Amino acid sequence: MIELRNIRKTYRQGGSAIHALDGIDLHIRQGEFIAIMGPSGSGKSTLLNVLGGLDRPDSGRYRLADDEISALDDDAASDVRNRRIGFVFQSFHLLPRLTVLENVLLPQRYARTADTQAPQRARALLERIGLGHRLDHLPGQLSGGQLQRAAIARALLNQPALLLADEPTGNLDSSSAADVMALLRELHAAGQTLVLVTHDPAIAASAQRTIHLRDGRIAGDRA
Ligand code: ADP
Ligand code: ADP
Repeated sequence: MIELRNIRKTYRQGGSAIHALDGIDLHIRQGEFIAIMGPSGSGKSTLLNVLGGLDRPDSGRYRLADDEISALDDDAASDVRNRRIGFVFQSFHLLPRLTVLENVLLPQRYARTADTQAPQRARALLERIGLGHRLDHLPGQLSGGQLQRAAIARALLNQPALLLADEPTGNLDSSSAADVMALLRELHAAGQTLVLVTHDPAIAASAQRTIHLRDGRIAGDRA
């Protein structure tokens, strides 16, 4: 479903170059649950950002289903991102003045076409993840685990082909982290393709396949 070919991303700082991604080849099948691990600075976030279309590689090819993302202009790439990719961050990124339901509906605001089914889907998603009684609450009234589950619901609103999560349990206590991981496993069991960045082997153990990065290269890839 997803193919990365010889992806490179270099940051220049002062006189020196940092090869954040140094020739990544990766094939992801539909329905896979992949954990990306590796030491700090090994390129995990950069790889996730490339997969999510948040960062453009300097070179290489990226295909997501029928879309050759590397060949698209910025507008077309961001359209693919909004329609096909859900992103979850360590720090939730919910807007504090919007209710939980309004936050989950945010992706609809960026959609090019009106989606009359979105409010219904948002409510159903929030019910499914146990936040049906929190629709009109503000983020400040929720626990960390609830905030991250709401953020996952938002990432799923447009029924993305690919769900990406960057250290989704990094700001959570262990019981909330367990809740969030149980939700991700449930989504995987229901067929969701899922790529997760973590440095915690216990979190990575939920995935089917673990990719280890080192210095911007794949140093290990095992099921
Ligand atoms: P990880 O997520 O594994 O910690 P990153 O992908 O964040 O690694 O970073 C990989 C390397 O690229 C690091 O050396 C980091 O400092 C560098 N890097 C990442 N983003 C930037 C940026 N915007 N500008 C300069 N250097 C960056
Ligand atoms: P996280 O650990 O949640 O991935 P980081 O603190 O590593 O967050 O990075 C946060 C943001 O800063 C990322 O978008 C990354 O690309 C950017 N970044 C990381 N390293 C550098 C750097 N050396 N210089 C500039 N930006 C960086």
